[in-house]
Amino acid sequence: MAHLLFAFYLLGLTAWKRYKNQNWVFCMYPMGQVPGEKNTDLLELLIIIIVKGTQMTKFEVLIIGGGPAGIAICKILGKNKKIGIIRPENYSMVYCAMPYVIEKILPLQKTFKKDELVTDTGADLIRDTATRVDLQAKTVETAKGQTYAYDKLVIATGATPVLPKLEGYQLKGVTTFKTEEELRSVQAAIEKGTKKAVVVGAGAIGIELAQALNKIGVETHLVDAEAHILPNMMDPEMVEAAQAELITSGLSLHLNNKVVALEGKEHVEKVLLEDGTSINLNSLDNSGETDQNQEDQGLVVFAVGMRPAVDLLRDTGLAIGPDGIIVNEKMETSIEGVYAAGDCVQFKSGITNEITGGKLATNAVPMGRVIAKNMLGQNKIYKGFLMVQQPRLKIFSLVDLEFRKKIPKADLMLPWDILNLPLLFRSCRKPRK
Ligand SMILES: Cc1cc2nc3c(=O)[nH]c(=O)nc-3n(C[C@H](O)[C@H](O)[C@H](O)COP(=O)(O)OP(=O)(O)OC[C@H]3O[C@@H](n4cnc5c(N)ncnc54)[C@H](O)[C@@H]3O)c2cc1C
Repeated sequence: MAHLLFAFYLLGLTAWKRYKNQNWVFCMYPMGQVPGEKNTDLLELLIIIIVKGTQMTKFEVLIIGGGPAGIAICKILGKNKKIGIIRPENYSMVYCAMPYVIEKILPLQKTFKKDELVTDTGADLIRDTATRVDLQAKTVETAKGQTYAYDKLVIATGATPVLPKLEGYQLKGVTTFKTEEELRSVQAAIEKGTKKAVVVGAGAIGIELAQALNKIGVETHLVDAEAHILPNMMDPEMVEAAQAELITSGLSLHLNNKVVALEGKEHVEKVLLEDGTSINLNSLDNSGETDQNQEDQGLVVFAVGMRPAVDLLRDTGLAIGPDGIIVNEKMETSIEGVYAAGDCVQFKSGITNEITGGKLATNAVPMGRVIAKNMLGQNKIYKGFLMVQQPRLKIFSLVDLEFRKKIPKADLMLPWDILNLPLLFRSCRKPRK
């Protein structure tokens, strides 16, 4: 009996090895030929077998993440290789256009990328979330219960905005600003009548959002812990004029200051700063008198940075640094056949060669292209982040004025259309320790 069981086990193992990549469901198959296979020997036919179930799809290249990095790869490889791209959202977002929606220059729908950007390349768009990656078996499991096999894997999971766990961070009216839902929530607050907002973080996203809110008549306070705006991108002298312009435009700047707590019953009502300032969201002009119309209308948006979305890979053995997945100049990770690109990677500055933050689409796209071209046999490398900002950033008021004179409102471009304009700003600043 023991021998028979052992024989069962061995044959089971053999069959599993043979058929595992085809995702066939095993069961007893009394006699006959395994579907689609040459005649199997008698013992095998007696023991194993296999009913053809759902077939595991195998991709030459499987990409997790449908943002700019993932799409850039599809555009180059889609017609040349069997590509799968996993993305949970209904739409891939044009993030850079989000402030324009708040400013009412663009309708919400203009922030949705068309699926055809991916599907027209020939790639399979899989609307799902990767929940487990097995780098040894070369498979990815998803929330919808599917398992996909791959020859090569690209991780392009992006980054998630940081919401500091300050007192009151869970109050209604407090949000970050990246997803479609968050954009809709800010838009809904404005439509409901919000007249006062605090934006935390004077980086590019915070400034653009604060400006948009200010332009539509919302009393806007912009808070940053550093002494000047764009602290991670620009030296102080480069932003002096822009900073002055922000104040002239009516924004209240709170620099060298931190939000320490948020107060309110259910909805956020007050923002407390480190220097003792209390911004009362229910009272316009901070007069102290509660404006009945503003009760439960306060809006606080955190734009204080992004954290690489790498939790999925934590226990896989992949090398991950404090700022993301560690890659070399070919975007190869520590595991052969696994690549990473975009906001989820940790990389160096193209100017100083030191590890630096560079979570921009203008960095994600070239990283993706390097991966794709190398898969086609080229020998490309990515030298490092260039913190290039496009002049459409409205903070640069002079540029903005000139820019707006040249381009009628109706033609206000979507993000990448204007890269050919001559004015580009580069940060030569060394990363802060
Ligand atoms: C408001 C805003 C304005 C911006 N403006 C600019 C700008 O003007 N210029 C600029 O260069 N950059 C800008 N950026 C930054 C830019 O959007 C990002 O750098 C860029 O999107 C990074 O691309 P990515 O492909 O690496 O990641 P993302 O665009 O973040 O895409 C990651 C994708 O991976 C998916 N994903 C994550 N986890 C999983 C999982 N487990 N399974 C399946 N899918 C998963 C996500 O859902 C998403 O689809 C802006 C960002 C924001 C939020």
